[in-house]
Parts: sequence; structure tokens; C-alpha cells
Amino acid sequence: MSIQKIVSLITLSATLLQGSMEAAMPDKAIDGSLFLVNRDHMVSEHYVPVVRTVNVVGMRQSMKEEAAAALEEMYAAASQDSAPLSSVSGYRSFTKQSTIYARKQKTAGQKTAEAYVAIPGASEHQLGVAMDVTKRGGSNLNAGFGKTKAGLWIAENAWRYGFIVRYLEGEESVTGYAYEPWHVRYVGKEHAKAIYESGVPMEIYVSVHRLAVYDFLIKQTDEVLQ
Ligand SMILES: [Zn+2]
Repeated sequence: MSIQKIVSLITLSATLLQGSMEAAMPDKAIDGSLFLVNRDHMVSEHYVPVVRTVNVVGMRQSMKEEAAAALEEMYAAASQDSAPLSSVSGYRSFTKQSTIYARKQKTAGQKTAEAYVAIPGASEHQLGVAMDVTKRGGSNLNAGFGKTKAGLWIAENAWRYGFIVRYLEGEESVTGYAYEPWHVRYVGKEHAKAIYESGVPMEIYVSVHRLAVYDFLIKQTDEVLQ
């Protein structure tokens, strides 16, 4: 290999590492749109995102700016389609999650708590990009929501606004959580569309996406070496 080629390769690697790598691997940065949080990928108790109040009907909740704006857009569209939505729970701090988990353990037992409530650090709500949504006038978060007009609307349209229904039916072994038709997570329009169309849970999508990025990097390197 010539010196020139080696130099080009180093330059390319440096550029990718500094710039587009972050954009290309949004699952790596905690503020990245694909940052994965589940029982195997926990968030630090010290992570506190910058959030703001979401201006929608329901309980007063907050989310990160981009997610909040997208949620407001989504609620407006749902109302226009006669499937008005209401918010139940958005950003939750590590401490708040600890309280909720402890309460569920006490009232419903360990097994139910494990299936439905994330242990502190394993909740997407701590990222400020998730919202528990229900139909307007009701606040029940249960599997039946998926069959309501609002639930069906969410399942079919959330992706248009950059959200995915995070815990799909039949994917409990992958996501680690029971089916939750009310829990939406913001990933941005591009990824939401791809995830919706693929029908796979985010865990699978992220691994495939990562492989595609590696593939891209290998091809770029090959080009330089040729
Ligand atoms: Zn939730």
C-alpha cells in the first residue's frame, strides 16, 4: 500500500469518527434518535435530558424539544381524524421511576411489576422521548387500548410524526416488556417509517442499522484502498 493511500485511509477514518459517524450511529449517543434503552441497556441515574412541557390535552407532561413538537403535531392530526388523544406520562426522572416501580411491586407483586414497569434506568421515559398516550376522556393504559379508535390510529399513523409503538404484541422476548399499544417513542421520521414498514422491534432494527453502517464503512475503506 502506498503512503498516499494510507494517509487517505487515516483521513477518512478520522472524518467518519468525528462527524458522520455520530449521525450514522444514532444508537451510540445518548441523545441520538436510536439510543436503545431496555433491561440490557440501562441509562445512568445521572442522565437528565433538557425537556419542556408538551402543549397537548391530558396530564401536564414534558419531553425533549424535538419529541414534544412532534407529539403536538401528532395530536393535532389525530383530532382532525376524529381520534383525539390524551397524554398520561412523558419524561420521568430516575427517582420518579424508582417510586413507580416500588409502588407496583407492592400493589401487584414482583412478576407484574417486572412485566409492566421498567426498573429504574431501564425506562425510555427517562430519555424524554417517550409518551404514554390514551384516548381523550380515558386514562386506562391496557392492551385493550390497541383496539380502540385512538389505539388503531396510533398504530397506523404514529410513524408519520416520527414515533413508533415501542412494545409490540408477540415481541415480548425481544423487547423485554409486555405489549403496550399506548407507549410511543420518538425516533425521528426517517427511522420511524423504516421501523413501521419493517414491523420489527427497535432492538432488531438497531442491530440491522448498525450492520448497514459497518457495511458502508467497509465499502468506503475499500474504495480508498483500490
Ligand atoms: Zn410508557
